[in-house]
Amino acid sequence: MKLFDEIIDKYLILNNINDFIFILNNDLLFEYFNEEVVNKQLNYRENELIGTNFKDYIHKEDIINFTNFLENKFKSKHDKEEIRIRNKNGNYHWFEYIGKSYFNKSGDLKYLIILQNISQRKNIEERYKILFENSPNAIILIDFNGIIVDINSSTIKLFGFKREDLIGKSIYELQDLFSLNMKPFYKKIFDASFKGEVPESIELKVKDKTEKYVWINVQASLIKIEERIYIQFIFQDITEKKKVELLEKQFKEQLEIEVTERTRELNKTLEEQKYYLDQILKSSQFKTEFMATMSHELRTPLNAMIGFTDLLLEGVYGQLNTEQLEFIKDIKSSAEHQFEMIKNILDISKIEAGQITLNYQRFSLNSIVDQINATLKPLCEKKGLEFKIKGIEKELELLADPIRFKEILFNLLDNAVKYSIKGQIILDVIEKYDHWLFKVKDEGIGIAQKDHNLIFKEFKRINSPFVQSVSGSGLGLSLTKRLVNLHGGEITFFSVEGVGTTFTFTIPKKDIEKII
Ligand code: ADP
Repeated sequence: MKLFDEIIDKYLILNNINDFIFILNNDLLFEYFNEEVVNKQLNYRENELIGTNFKDYIHKEDIINFTNFLENKFKSKHDKEEIRIRNKNGNYHWFEYIGKSYFNKSGDLKYLIILQNISQRKNIEERYKILFENSPNAIILIDFNGIIVDINSSTIKLFGFKREDLIGKSIYELQDLFSLNMKPFYKKIFDASFKGEVPESIELKVKDKTEKYVWINVQASLIKIEERIYIQFIFQDITEKKKVELLEKQFKEQLEIEVTERTRELNKTLEEQKYYLDQILKSSQFKTEFMATMSHELRTPLNAMIGFTDLLLEGVYGQLNTEQLEFIKDIKSSAEHQFEMIKNILDISKIEAGQITLNYQRFSLNSIVDQINATLKPLCEKKGLEFKIKGIEKELELLADPIRFKEILFNLLDNAVKYSIKGQIILDVIEKYDHWLFKVKDEGIGIAQKDHNLIFKEFKRINSPFVQSVSGSGLGLSLTKRLVNLHGGEITFFSVEGVGTTFTFTIPKKDIEKII
């Protein structure tokens, strides 16, 4: 019973493990094998194998190896040997094997061989080899001593080395390819790989065989091939990418330089402008101060001149003869003219410097018009001109600076009288919803189209014999326009040479509360 149980046990053990176990006799003929396993893996039945020669099933490339193995009394260079065995359909399967020779009780030499099916692993290795060879990236396998054991064709293409240049060489001999800066990287590979992580890749600039620099991205990992562990380096050519990056960097740097340069130039221009503006302000301040002082200095003696000529004309210092009278009158008129001119210059420069503020008041328009009329009437009569006033039949009240308003109206009416030889001068006052409209119309010499842009400019007078014969400084209209604008109004004119001129200006109606 005991023997039977042992047989049963052996049978179960041998047929339920995955290894192919068999015994060969001295001539390498099968004597025993675990049929269940062999049948599963190679399809043979007991009666087909027993008595046949094991060598007949070995792949012809592996026979020498196997024979050596037997001759060396099962001493292997490696832990395990590999062998291809043919199945019943004629296909070969990869096995790893170990063996042992022994003598049985009868003293016959026997061989016990155990085969382990490694086809699956071999398939994976085959597939790895295909991937390895066809990878667009250069792949280099090194062993733990730093010796290059394999390279793929992309390595040859990328670095220009031949197989024999690299295989069997130590990576420490190939400094250009495995530069010294990679040393810390090796450590990282091991640390990460042993933790089951993928180490971070690095980017390096290395020299190829032709001493040309190539930018590469290096990724490394530990890989197990045929039970051995290697370091697999994957090199990706990133030279083009680096070139683009470099160009982008250069472009950015250039741009930054240009932006800095432009900003510097801009700041310089701004500073210059500020400087000029300061100068302008200073000079305009200087101008205003100068004008104020000069006008005071000039007006004082003029006032004296006018006062004394008045006294002379009145005969306070005795009667003057006709010639003296004419001279004194000329002196007085010149002094008055100069006095008027200085006053206008001062006013214009004060307006320009923003130093004139209007003194808004309610006043009677009728009264102002009467005052002007009183001044101009004798002149009109003298020249045979008719002065008509329209639109102030009833009392009208205006809100403006009365002195400045009178100046505006007087300047326009005075010009109308000055530049007319005949005809009418009409002042028309029209009240509108939110402003007053004043029209000063004459039938005088008119203004030629070509001179229309001149008349509001300072010191500009029309170049005609008539105008030159009339006293004037070319400042009246320029000041008038500024005073109208200061009130918030507009001034325009319509003129035809030889027919007459109409000046129109507006004075907005203001809210007294808002002004105060
Ligand atoms: P001016 O002191 O010379 O009168 P204005 O500034 O008042 O200076 O006028 C500028 C010029 O415009 C005058 O010299 C004159 O040539 C012209 N002008 C002004 N008003 C009239 C007008 N009503 N008719 C014709 N020309 C005029």
